[in-house]
Amino acid sequence: MLTGKHVAIIGGDARQLEVIRKLIELDAKISLIGFDQLDEGFAGATKVQLDQVDFSTVEAIMLPVSGTSSEGEVETIFSNEKIVLTNDHLKATSKQCTVYSGISNQYLKTIVHSSNRKLVELFERNDVAIYNSIPTMEGTLMMVIQNTDITIHRSNVVIVGFGRVGMSVARAFHGLGANVKVAARESELLARVYEMGFQPIELSLLANEVHNTDVCINTIPAKVLTGNILSKMPTRSLIIDLASKPGGTDFRYAEKRGIKAMLAPGLPGIVAPKTAGQIIANVLSKLLLEEQNTIEEEQK
Ligand code: NAP
Repeated sequence: MLTGKHVAIIGGDARQLEVIRKLIELDAKISLIGFDQLDEGFAGATKVQLDQVDFSTVEAIMLPVSGTSSEGEVETIFSNEKIVLTNDHLKATSKQCTVYSGISNQYLKTIVHSSNRKLVELFERNDVAIYNSIPTMEGTLMMVIQNTDITIHRSNVVIVGFGRVGMSVARAFHGLGANVKVAARESELLARVYEMGFQPIELSLLANEVHNTDVCINTIPAKVLTGNILSKMPTRSLIIDLASKPGGTDFRYAEKRGIKAMLAPGLPGIVAPKTAGQIIANVLSKLLLEEQNTIEEEQK
């Protein structure tokens, strides 16, 4: 249990509601900042303005998946209040305070470092990325169904990249009867692609393999779907780019060639906010419990 542990939850979207639920279940003391328009009442959690928080008792801060902007602003869909997290807020927290965020940027890293606190980027964790690949894969299927007039079954699908997302997506399309090719650069990954029953493509030779593509899913956060490759794809191809912004597709060239190419960020939060929130809540609560145990051990 996290009885009495003071956690400040600052901003976020529907995913954060699952975090609140889980922490209430574990009996933490919760301050909600940026939730004044949230209709749902949470017994055991107190809505407060940022300047009303007693940071001296705060032992953990939970930020949204996006962390902060490069100016320190924290996004929230539950308030019109402008929330800016600063160095001073962090310095005022309990010495053992840890800041949890999905991802981070230079601003967040700098204020956490200069206040001598700890930062945990939950989306850097392998387990979170693997769990998240499930709603990402479902969102990808949804986008492909919405944007094509053919079945996935028997369609020619090229998956670019074979990391955590690429693997889940390839398996799903294969399971639905598509002809799946997967492009990756490491020979070890290509061997795994082969073992799983998909057609492996050496990434540098991708241009030779896209002539009959119906759907191409990119998961590599680097410019891989270049003009040269797009010029070999049929204009009927649909490209869904899942890689983090700005994606890995030459969108300008795709548009010029008449290929429909879409950047599709944040699918878990869009198609399955509850599940996506539970993924975060489960990992966060595990980390907070571990931290609590360590502190208790040290105090013995
Ligand atoms: P990952 O496990 O790190 O996989 C990335 C893949 O890209 C690996 O196969 C990696 O190959 C390859 N790669 C990376 N940089 C490369 C480069 N410069 N050239 C060639 N290959 C390169 O990442 P992931 O968890 O699958 O996530 C993939 C992307 O999707 C990330 O950008 C992530 O932020 C994004 N994402 C988007 C959504 C969404 O809703 N759209 C959801 C989750 C994740 P090596 O192993 O050879 O480096």
